Amino acid sequence: MRNRILFWQFFGAHIVILIVAVGSVALYAWHTSSREFHRQWIRELESQAKLAAALLPRGDGAVDDVAAQRFMERLKVLGDRRFTLILPDGKVLGDSESDASRMDLHHERPEVKMAKRTGMGISERYSATLGKPMLYLAQRVPPDGPEQAVVRVSVPVRSLTHELASTHRTLFLLLGVVLVATLVLSYWAALRIIGPVSAFREGLDRIGGGDLSHRLAVPAVPHLAELARAINRTADRLQKYIQAVDDERNMRALILANMTRGVIAIDRRHAVMDINDSARQMLGLKEPVAEGTRIGEAVRYAELLALIDASERQEGPVEREMVIGEAGDILLNMRATALKDRESNRVGTLMVLSDVTVLRKLERVRQDFVANVSHELRTPVTSVKGFAETLLDGAMNDAATAERFLKIIVRQASQLETIIRDLLDLSRLEQSSSQTLERQETPVAGVLKSAVELCQARASERGLTVMIDCAEKLSVQMHAGLIEQAVVNLIDNAIKYGATAEQPQVVVSARREGACVRLAVRDFGHGVERAHLDRLFERFYRVDKGRSREMGGTGLGLAIVKHIVLIHGGTVGVESELGQGATFSLYLPA
Ligand code: ADP
Repeated sequence: MRNRILFWQFFGAHIVILIVAVGSVALYAWHTSSREFHRQWIRELESQAKLAAALLPRGDGAVDDVAAQRFMERLKVLGDRRFTLILPDGKVLGDSESDASRMDLHHERPEVKMAKRTGMGISERYSATLGKPMLYLAQRVPPDGPEQAVVRVSVPVRSLTHELASTHRTLFLLLGVVLVATLVLSYWAALRIIGPVSAFREGLDRIGGGDLSHRLAVPAVPHLAELARAINRTADRLQKYIQAVDDERNMRALILANMTRGVIAIDRRHAVMDINDSARQMLGLKEPVAEGTRIGEAVRYAELLALIDASERQEGPVEREMVIGEAGDILLNMRATALKDRESNRVGTLMVLSDVTVLRKLERVRQDFVANVSHELRTPVTSVKGFAETLLDGAMNDAATAERFLKIIVRQASQLETIIRDLLDLSRLEQSSSQTLERQETPVAGVLKSAVELCQARASERGLTVMIDCAEKLSVQMHAGLIEQAVVNLIDNAIKYGATAEQPQVVVSARREGACVRLAVRDFGHGVERAHLDRLFERFYRVDKGRSREMGGTGLGLAIVKHIVLIHGGTVGVESELGQGATFSLYLPA
């Protein structure tokens, strides 16, 4: 429909222009040809009148009837024009088409009057004699001097207009042909131009509507072809640009979505521009936050809103921490920075949230560890120093006391040595990982046997028997030396804390459990109170510090066990009831 309107706007304008142009030419040609035709007729009549005047016999007096008769005879050679010979008094002496004797005086005829006065007169009027309109031309003879006569030549107006009309017909026919030909040409041109132009419009509509792969067909018309190519080139660039913007936006969304840190971007009016999943999870928001939602409506944490206000009041980034979570056990670090546009005007605020609960806990563990190590080392060092000083102060003089003191010093020194050895073991284990650990498929029974052998003497000292319960063919990928060390630590503990008179036994077992191989050391001693179970594997954690020291313990044995199992990709566990003994287990991936 729009095509048709465009076509008629274009072609309609052509029709109007062509009709006006051809009409003006026709009018001008009609007018000019009529005038020219008229002039030509007058020139012809004039030359015939002059010729006729030349044929009039010259004499001094007026022309007589005989001369007139002869004159009229001679005029016949000049063709079929009507000639009239008029005497100066107006009497008609001869007429080639009427009887002169019956004609009235002609001196009042306009052409005759004018000829008498100026030598020549013209008039177009109705002829009463012939009863039709005529064009007259009268010639005074001679043109100056005493007037002899007036020769008049005339022609019917109809023969004039007839001839003119035929000329006009030819002219109009020609112009008509020109008009039709140009209209046909213009129609064809309109079709050739409007077709591609409307295809351009449809194409541009599609490209503008998002179909960026659409390209315009290149028409045959050279200028339009160049235009189509230029539009296609622009569409190419636009497509590439939009693809780049899309890719960038997707990349940004992907990065935001996969960030473990929470990210919230808000504008100046505090409306949310972007919020990633991590931020929603950290803030406990179950529903997605729609773009444009006011941050105060989506998030109720006053600290976070206060942080935004603080960030708006100052130039640099603002950082704060807030405790959240139902149990108040999550520590969030929040950092707010101004979002700025190209002209460095503030357009909003960017907040990055990180869950620092684990980090802070690790920091605390590290601080506790340093404090614990210092404390553990100070005890034997103080003891060694104290006894050594006492010896120097005179106790050496008493041989028995000196020996007792020196034995204490030796025991404390070996305690110090044990702590340092355990700390070094632990630190070495912390540096290894499951990726770097060298493992080999090893029969478990062999490892258990050699561990038991290492503890055999201490067990016998305390009257304990250690039994092994393990299938010979059971094997697992492990670092045999480390697993042996872990089992030795567990058997050692069982000997230290599990020796009771009722059931002086330690059972070391291994069996396949699901996807794991479970190594367990069971004793039948006092066991551990439930409240302590979760913390037994922490460094320096001891249920009874005094007893542990007395036994030569460092509080690091179970921590070492846990690390050995962790770098094997396994887990540890403990089951115990007070008075029922304890079972410590290592689960290694089979
Ligand atoms: P320690 O050098 O004190 O033995 P561990 O890390 O080996 O350090 O053990 C930590 C604590 O766990 C011990 O102090 C002890 O209180 C408790 N414990 C370990 N094994 C047993 C066990 N078999 N029976 C009872 N308590 C145990």
